[in-house]
Amino acid sequence: MNKKGHVALAVAAGSAVLWAAPALIGSAVQGVVSSVLVVALAAIGGLAPDLDHKTSTASQMIQLSAKRRHMLQKLSLGLLLIGALLYIGRYMWGPPSDMVSILFKSAPLWMGAGALSWAFARLRSIVLIGAGALLLAAYSLYDWHWIAAFSGASLMILPLVKHRGIIHTPEFAAALTIGLLSLSGQHGSTVQALALGFVTGWWAHLAGDCFGREGIHSLFLPKVGIAMKLFSNGGAAERWISRICWASSVVIWIDLLTPSASIIHHLI
Ligand SMILES: [Zn+2]
Repeated sequence: MNKKGHVALAVAAGSAVLWAAPALIGSAVQGVVSSVLVVALAAIGGLAPDLDHKTSTASQMIQLSAKRRHMLQKLSLGLLLIGALLYIGRYMWGPPSDMVSILFKSAPLWMGAGALSWAFARLRSIVLIGAGALLLAAYSLYDWHWIAAFSGASLMILPLVKHRGIIHTPEFAAALTIGLLSLSGQHGSTVQALALGFVTGWWAHLAGDCFGREGIHSLFLPKVGIAMKLFSNGGAAERWISRICWASSVVIWIDLLTPSASIIHHLI
């Protein structure tokens, strides 16, 4: 399932949760605001598991385009090569003139520029590892909830794991769900709504991936998995599922916003 399908499914799942448990959202204006937050976070949760894919929508937010990455990699190699040649030249060249001596001394600058270009080309890894390290630091220094350590460690391994690997397993989703709900339980209703929205979107993503050819599998029993092979990524069937999801979301929202003229409640 591609990005559009995942968002449609996650928004429908988030809306369905609101509809099934209206007590979660309270009433009046505050209720509308937290309902919108639940669905917005569901959409984010619906895209987040694909952070384990280098070119997914989630990953594109924290890296440069493929063209720029390749350009920076070449630039980095070029700059490092110039720096290295200048280092070598310093020892091979006889007593240098002033001009040449200045050039030789600039070797570390070329190397530094090369390292910087390399870092920009690997922005995704740096953002993931940096954010993960911050969460781990917050856990150990400020006694944050264990989900901070769990999320931190998960972010740090993301550059290394394969797509639809550990991050796409139900066991990982279960640990994430328990952690986020237990954390949000210590806070007010808005935080609870945000956590609920995110985990709903996350599970909707896994459900969406079950339809496809690769499917998802268990972490502890890798041979156990679900791959329904119902349609190919972005195909006509997937577009129909998206349309049905959006239509269902609209119906649910009409029902949520007009309780007196409740369509669905009249039907059942
Ligand atoms: Zn996925």
